[in-house]
Amino acid sequence: LMHLTRKLIEIRSMLLSIDQSDALKLPSIVVIGSQSSGKSSVLEAIVGHEFLPKGNNMVTRRPIELTLIHTPQANGNDPEEYGEFPMLGLGKISDFSKIQKTLTDLNLAVPASEAVSNDPIDLRIYSPRVPDLTLIDLPGYIQIASMDQPESLKEKIASLCERYIREPNIVLAVCAADVDLANSPALRASRKVDPLGLRTIGVITKMDLVPPEQGASILSGNRYPLHLGYVGVVCKTSGIRGSRESTTAMVQRGENDYFGSHRQYFGSTSSLMVGTDTLRKRLMEVLESSMASSLHGITNAVQLELEEAQYQFKVQYNDRRITAESYVAETVDLLKARFKEFTTQFRKPHVRAKLKEMLDDKVMDVLEQLYWTDKRVPELSSLAADPRVKPEDVEPYWRYKLEAASSLLTKSGVGRDSTLLVADGLRTLIDSIAAGEPFNHHPRASERLIEFSHAILRDRIGVTSDQVENCIKPYKYEIEVEPREWDSGRNESLTLYEKELVQCEERLKEIRKRVGGGRRLNGLVVYVKELEAKERERKQRVLVNPEAENEESASVVEDYRYPPAQILDARHAMMYGNRLGVLKLRLAALKSKRCKGGPENDVLCPEAFLSVVADKLAYTSAMFINIELLDHFFYQFPREIDSRLLYDLDRREIVEFARENPVVKKHLDLQERKDKLEEVMKQLNSLATLRPESVQTTPRR
Ligand code: GDP
Repeated sequence: LMHLTRKLIEIRSMLLSIDQSDALKLPSIVVIGSQSSGKSSVLEAIVGHEFLPKGNNMVTRRPIELTLIHTPQANGNDPEEYGEFPMLGLGKISDFSKIQKTLTDLNLAVPASEAVSNDPIDLRIYSPRVPDLTLIDLPGYIQIASMDQPESLKEKIASLCERYIREPNIVLAVCAADVDLANSPALRASRKVDPLGLRTIGVITKMDLVPPEQGASILSGNRYPLHLGYVGVVCKTSGIRGSRESTTAMVQRGENDYFGSHRQYFGSTSSLMVGTDTLRKRLMEVLESSMASSLHGITNAVQLELEEAQYQFKVQYNDRRITAESYVAETVDLLKARFKEFTTQFRKPHVRAKLKEMLDDKVMDVLEQLYWTDKRVPELSSLAADPRVKPEDVEPYWRYKLEAASSLLTKSGVGRDSTLLVADGLRTLIDSIAAGEPFNHHPRASERLIEFSHAILRDRIGVTSDQVENCIKPYKYEIEVEPREWDSGRNESLTLYEKELVQCEERLKEIRKRVGGGRRLNGLVVYVKELEAKERERKQRVLVNPEAENEESASVVEDYRYPPAQILDARHAMMYGNRLGVLKLRLAALKSKRCKGGPENDVLCPEAFLSVVADKLAYTSAMFINIELLDHFFYQFPREIDSRLLYDLDRREIVEFARENPVVKKHLDLQERKDKLEEVMKQLNSLATLRPESVQTTPRR
């Protein structure tokens, strides 16, 4: 039978770790009593040590789940008696004053505003001198709320106790002999849930404080009968305690003194239960039989829960098992795979195309700056159209212009801009990986990922852009163009111009729509031209006669015929109109026989020439960015993942990480629940053979 209780105590704590539902609870002994009834002294007498928090100011603020585990006499270095707080991981504590200190700290950690917490403290005590028992110590009932205790505290404690004294628990109602039982809050509470006293044991403390006949009368239980009876104890002696006397010895001395000197009342011939030893035995018996009778019910309940968990595991996860470690490994693999997949975007041709796009923009900027705004561009275009003109006949003006344009392009910071373009692409890529599944569930890992990948890039950007700048240096001085290159350059600039043309037309269309049609826009343009003409005249006059300025400005009357936004639109429309004209001229030039002729016509067809330059720059930049930046990054990144992303996690952190992902957490939770239930079921089945045919509790009156 011993073995049964012990096993069931183990099973009980496993069940508690599965869930707190009442259906899966095995009985425990719940200790209730009013403050100062001697509750702590009784528990300490049972354990044989002082270990409970002491003090006037209501020191038990949380339930203490006290599990006593009977151990064989120690035969090695292990301490014979020790306590453990499984949730705190402090290891074995053989100094009971340290247990007392820890319990005090845990209790005092409950904020004063709450005063009482429902969250139990798990304490296990191992000793050859304790029986296998589970006891739950609850805050003592208080009679009157004191100044520093909230008014609701009384009810709070009462409702906490009420929750614990439900079935199937056994109630240990502690009452002091010197207080009328009619006033015992413990008995009152127990009667509410157990009117017949079938699962309530009365403990009468401080027997030494009442005359023996009165004590005997209380224990007989005639006034408030309890099926499980009353046990009388003396747990503290009024006399002086020997300094080296153990709690057990002291209790024994007190009980021998009192019960021994009143044998006529409490001797073996009486049917009364007295003494801590008797109490201990009584508790064991009662718990054992209660556990045994719960066995059938709990087995059924666990079986049902287990079947449900197994079914859910099958349906939801197809019985697929996972571990936190496997999830971490999968996450790392997934990250590498995703990265690899994305890196295809950074193959050389892709990078080259991206760089070319950026350089084409630069070319258009240069053309706009140097050619499109040059009033002589029509001249250049008609030169290209004239078959009689020879390249050497063209004015040096245009030669200088081309050289300026080429130099503007090659010296525009291509090294830095192209490196940053590619680095930004990588950064965006990593950021998107870090923001996506599953890293969206792992903010810290995601931050780390971003941090170290940005660091690799930062490390390489300077070197790379210097290297690129260095390698394009020759183009700053001389650019040779092959006929084949010229052809493709010319074609590309045709495409670019056509695109630009379409864009200009679209802008114009937008403006027309905005101002209310082409007619209106024409009117606006005429008006703005007049304004500009007037402005020019005025400037002319001021130039001739500076004195005129003041009079002039006074005479210019602001004309509010059109809103300012429309005036601005008109100016833009004029600019796009002019731009369209230039583009059309240049398109014609590019299509001319002359431009088709080859690279010796570079001065007449700067667009084709600059496009070739842009191509060369893109090619060279891509090559060196590939070597200096991309190769390094692609080599380094997977290594950094291995050595920095999740490398230093211990077992607990791995579990924590995995559980950050709600999908994984749900999976793990169900899996663990199923495993624990299976284990409990196995243990319960193994008990079936031990289970006695019938266990009954002897009623004691
Ligand atoms: P709790 O508040 O219910 O935990 O009560 P305690 O165990 O702290 O006891 C309250 C007071 O009663 C303390 O001063 C104890 O010394 C005293 N006390 C406890 N048990 C006995 C006993 O059997 N005999 C006597 N004379 N005093 C006791």
